[in-house]
Amino acid sequence: MARYTDAVCRLCRREGQKLFLKGDRCYSSKCPVDRRSYPPGQHGQGRRRQLSEYGLQTREKQKARRYYGVLESQFRNYFKMAVRRPGVTGTNLLQILECRLDNVVYRLGMAMSRPEARQLVRHGHFTVNGRKVNIPSYLVKVGDVIALKSSSRNLEKFKIVLETNESRTPPKWLDLNREAVQGTVTALPERDDIDFPIEEHLIVELYSK
Ligand code: SF4
Repeated sequence: MARYTDAVCRLCRREGQKLFLKGDRCYSSKCPVDRRSYPPGQHGQGRRRQLSEYGLQTREKQKARRYYGVLESQFRNYFKMAVRRPGVTGTNLLQILECRLDNVVYRLGMAMSRPEARQLVRHGHFTVNGRKVNIPSYLVKVGDVIALKSSSRNLEKFKIVLETNESRTPPKWLDLNREAVQGTVTALPERDDIDFPIEEHLIVELYSK
């Protein structure tokens, strides 16, 4: 599966906001968004053009894609899935993105960032309902139990991650059992549960053209 491998901080600078792709560094004074708040590249500091309606819609879509680490074709498939579901398409889209296994692992505090969660899932460190799942795009359902594999619990890597994230509270649709290092999906995320500043209606407008 193809994925973005260039410098990820450029993505945040392009979107003009933190996408939290680098774990600890994102919360430190070293974050390039804080230090260089202009787009990357040769013309980054030049005059900013007013974006067209299409430009605004595209930027919003790119921002969501980059935040969740999803490629264009998969993002479009998620949109089609969101259209087929009852309810508000934009909210459905965000709900689907939030239910990706890599996002859930990150939200539970078992990884420092979404890209790291994706890699840890890929390496087979997690189970869903007791069965190993190594597909980052796996969509969790209500009642699913996501757990760190018992053989991975003593790895230094996870000891550090779990200790660092001890004070982080998962969203209310996930119930975290810190002792068992597992979380249960108690409900599907609602719009208010998604704290990422995104105007999803712009994405819906873009794909509905
Ligand atoms: Fe984005 Fe984190 Fe890099 Fe800051 S440190 S630019 S939030 S990836």
